[in-house]
Amino acid sequence: MPPHRVPAEVAASGLAPADGWVAVDRHTLETRFSNVFAIGDVTGIPLALGKPLPKAGVFAHRQGEVVADIIANRLAERGTGATFDGAGECFIEMGRGIAGLARGNFYAEPAPAIHAYKPGRHWHAGKVAFERHWWAQWW
Ligand SMILES: Cc1cc2nc3c(=O)[nH]c(=O)nc-3n(C[C@H](O)[C@H](O)[C@H](O)COP(=O)(O)OP(=O)(O)OC[C@H]3O[C@@H](n4cnc5c(N)ncnc54)[C@H](O)[C@@H]3O)c2cc1C
Repeated sequence: MPPHRVPAEVAASGLAPADGWVAVDRHTLETRFSNVFAIGDVTGIPLALGKPLPKAGVFAHRQGEVVADIIANRLAERGTGATFDGAGECFIEMGRGIAGLARGNFYAEPAPAIHAYKPGRHWHAGKVAFERHWWAQWW
């Protein structure tokens, strides 16, 4: 993998330092510039235990939905809209048709509250179904 950092254009925009990530409100994803939002890997969201929110597709996806809702609500002057609550999950593939699932709230304090479910064939089947669902949705 290449080094993980914000694209040069994002750093040049003043949204993030060259060696850092875009600071956002952890619930609305709004940057220090009003009505400018950042989601996904370019963001740096510190957690209570001192580490950042992991960079994961599940968070980028949920944050995208939240920001879309906030923008739609602002345009329609309909109130504040959704908020991002730090919840997420991921399958943990183990091979041979077995997977696990870890799910939790990364905004919980003093530390993220994560539960790892016992691995089994059903989680692997769930992962395949999840993949097929989004594949069909997008392509
Ligand atoms: C090997 C690997 C495995 C992973 N596995 C998982 C997993 O199992 N589960 C999970 O939840 N997450 C996983 N992740 C993390 C997940 O892929 C990322 O968190 C997610 O893709 C972030 O989405 P994003 O939209 O923020 O950024 P990206 O997916 O990186 O999208 C950014 C896009 O912006 C484009 N771009 C960059 N610069 C410019 C520019 N100047 N102009 C226009 N476009 C530009 C890029 O080409 C890219 O398409 C994995 C990551 C890696 C590397």
